[in-house]
Amino acid sequence: MKYINSPIQEINFENKQIFIKRDDLLDIDFSGNKARKFYYFLKNDFQGIKKIISYGSPQANSLYSLSVLAKIKSVKLDFYVSHIASFLKENPMGNYKEAIKNGANIIDLSKINSNIHTFEYIENYVLPFEKNCVFIEEGGRVKEAEFGIKILADEIKAWAKENSINKLDIFLPSGTGTTALFLQKHLEFDVLTCACVGDEEYLKKQFLSLNKDESKHPIILKREKKYHFGKLYKEFYEINQKLLNETKIEFDLLYDSLGWLVLKHSYNFGEKKLLYIHQGGILGNESMILRYKNKYI
Ligand SMILES: *Cc1c(COP(=O)(O)O)cnc(C)c1O
Repeated sequence: MKYINSPIQEINFENKQIFIKRDDLLDIDFSGNKARKFYYFLKNDFQGIKKIISYGSPQANSLYSLSVLAKIKSVKLDFYVSHIASFLKENPMGNYKEAIKNGANIIDLSKINSNIHTFEYIENYVLPFEKNCVFIEEGGRVKEAEFGIKILADEIKAWAKENSINKLDIFLPSGTGTTALFLQKHLEFDVLTCACVGDEEYLKKQFLSLNKDESKHPIILKREKKYHFGKLYKEFYEINQKLLNETKIEFDLLYDSLGWLVLKHSYNFGEKKLLYIHQGGILGNESMILRYKNKYI
């Protein structure tokens, strides 16, 4: 990895001073949220393991990061998807394209059995027959993720101490909530987040499944309205472009756009210093920008 410890940078956005933890710069190939979550697998011996098995969207950041991990570890990657859009198949791009380049075996379940949930299929028809494999839940929702996220927490602690910052809020947008939850577990500062996949209730449930003690849960900031993951919203594109103009940093269009909108809407700036965690995901922007351009421009 390029950095053992990702840099923290101060930016000015809409006249507010905000610190950004640049996990998007961890490494060219292995960076962002999924690098933190899969760090355990990178660091530990793959004794006897021949294959990684996982599933999710063919555009998922986890697909790309797992393809890098598999390549480094010289093992195969079988990644199950429920469906691949014909446009993507004909015009591979982003995470999908790069994962294929890395040798990922992307298995389209709609071609095999379209009546079953991907997880159920893997559980019943794949894992019982695969030896020497490691199965990784969708989006890296696994207990091993804590290992790399604790390191992230330790980096933040050391930075805050070095800079004599004792009042600090940390914000990151959530998917499964795994990152936010483990970060809160290892930090005294408040961790704030918002729901990007599913609603606030779904996120709360995810937190509960990882930790029964609600006092150790991150704070969920409310969204102004309901958003559906992966759909296009003009305001997502607009805030992404504004961020790029004002800060010269590219943020992702799936999680970060909503994260920044939620901060604008529901966060009280100025009481404490704020550290925003940039969790990568930029590779996915190519196809999103194309969709936005087709729809709005
Ligand atoms: C996976 C991912 C998230 C969500 O992380 P969770 O731990 O599932 O909440 C957020 N941002 C980016 C860029 C991601 O790749």
